[in-house]
Order: sequence, then structure tokens, then C-alpha cells
Amino acid sequence: MLDKENIQSAKSTLSNSNRNNDKKIIKVSEKERIEIFKKTTNFLSNYPRIRAILIKPKEKTPFEPEWQKKNNYPVTSKIVLNHFLNGGNWGTMHPSGMSCEIDGDTPEIRKAALSLGDTTEWNTGTPGHYCELFIIKDEPVGNIPLVNGAYIRGKGGQNVAPGSIHPNGNIYGGTYLHLVPPVEVTKEKLLEVFKPYIIGKEKLSKKPENTNSKPINPDSLTMKGLVDVTGFKQSGSKYQGAHPVHGSSTGTNFVVDFELNEWHCFRHGTGGGPLQWIAVATGVINCSESVPGKIKGDLFWKVIAAAHNKYGLSYEKLSAALGGDQNGKQKE
Ligand SMILES: [Zn+2]
Repeated sequence: MLDKENIQSAKSTLSNSNRNNDKKIIKVSEKERIEIFKKTTNFLSNYPRIRAILIKPKEKTPFEPEWQKKNNYPVTSKIVLNHFLNGGNWGTMHPSGMSCEIDGDTPEIRKAALSLGDTTEWNTGTPGHYCELFIIKDEPVGNIPLVNGAYIRGKGGQNVAPGSIHPNGNIYGGTYLHLVPPVEVTKEKLLEVFKPYIIGKEKLSKKPENTNSKPINPDSLTMKGLVDVTGFKQSGSKYQGAHPVHGSSTGTNFVVDFELNEWHCFRHGTGGGPLQWIAVATGVINCSESVPGKIKGDLFWKVIAAAHNKYGLSYEKLSAALGGDQNGKQKE
């Protein structure tokens, strides 16, 4: 087996025709190129956590200032469409790190990616290279360099997207465009698969998944829907009783106001709204940590992931209901 591979490798190195063949540029008509773009953007619109950024013609990096925070768009945005129709390239971007792409992969890295399942995939500009898309289930994945110039493009990372033209003339998605739903994985599972190829060290998440599942409606993501006040003392819209998570020695250390949609813990002098309550109830933070401004950035997405596991709602519904937007930012 090894001998056969060596012979093939030697043959391909020595044979000029093979090498030329490998670098062949596949011609794609302008009409087909627009079709590739439209198919991809329609498909990706099902995953609003993935955003689009603008890239200059035949280039690979975004050119708008603050594209990571401000100048990124829903994939079906007219801004993106017009830019593309005017000859520009475009890219996919992952503001939250709750999705990622494997970029510039070699056959071994592609094999590792596909070991996670049949996921969204397309050819990139370099012949023989592909990009795979994943949805992350539990917590944000960053940008992680892999061997041979490959990358896990996670939070804030971007990648040139199908229909774009590589500086060498190749069309992204022009020879292979596999628009099946992206595989959903935990950060830990993803990193485990790529561990042999990661350059430098990346902390692996060891946190167990919260597997309690209790379906809930997004409209119930209010204090009223989240806290059972059976046995509490009522005063108007306020209910006072024992803290449902850490308990109470007096039986009165917790108050929830259904009208203001807020809660307060007298033991810790902390409180907040539904987002903070879910964070405490799912164990993402301790009650003592629930202070204003605490839940932002990566922590926000950890709470969303914990809520997803506990209540069975999509990330998009949860982040909208709990004060986030589709841009990975949230109110502070
Ligand atoms: Zn407390």
C-alpha cells in the first residue's frame, strides 16, 4: 500500500501533464457564476448567524472598515448582491464563533472535517482544496491555525465564498458546491478531530453538556415563564420566596417582579432579567456573579447554548428573545 502510494506520488511529481492537469482552471460562465452565488446565499440564509462581507474583485480579504463588527450583512442583502453583480468577491463571516469554516484544507484535513459528517462544502480557489462549514452547538470557536496554511475560521473569521473569483481565475464553488445542512458539533468534538493538525495549543472545553431538555416557547422567556412562584408571598406583581437555585435559610432571599421582568437575590445583592436568570439557572454563572454588564461576548453565547440545551429553542430565536441580535452583539 505504502509502495503504491510512493510510486503514485513519484509519478505525479515527475509527470508534467499530471501537474498541469492539477492546476487546470475550470471555465464557468458568468451566468453559472451568478447561479452559484444565488444558490449559496439562499441556502445560507437559513443560518443567520453566518454573515456576508464584501471583498474587492479577485481579492481575498474584506475591504470595508470594521467589517467584523459593523460592515457585515445578511447573506441575502441587496448590498451584497449588487456588489457581486458589479464584479466584486464576497465572503462568509462568523461574528459569534457559533459557526466556523475549515479553510484551505489539504486532503488529510478535509478527511478529518468530513469524519464529523456530511456537511456543507465547496471548492476554494486553490485546485484540490475545499472548505467545510460547521454549526457549533455549545460555545464559540476562535480562529485556529492548522498545519499547511489551513485554518479553522471561527469567531470574527472570514472566508471567500462561492461564486467569487480567485486571483488565479478559479471560481469558488465552481467545481464542487455541496449545499447540505452543516453538521452541528460541540467545540470539544470539533477540536478533538483537528487536534493533530492544530499549530500551538488551544484549550479544550471539558465542560459537560447540560442535557436537561424542557421545550419552551420563545414568548415564555420571561421571568413569569422561567420561575415557579408556587408558595411565594405575593405583593402586586412581586413574588418573594426562597432562591430557586441556591436556596434560602430564611425562605425570603429571592424576589421576582413579573411586571418589571426582573429578579433580585438578597443574599448576593445580585439580579437581572431573563438572560441573567437563565445564566444562573443553567449554571453558566453563579448567582453572586450576576451583575450588570457581566453577560457579553463569549459568555452571552455560552448562555444561549445552555438555554438551547435546556429549553430546546434555536440559537437565533434565543438570541433574539434574550436581547442579542444576529450580529453576535447584545445589549449590555
Ligand atoms: Zn444569590
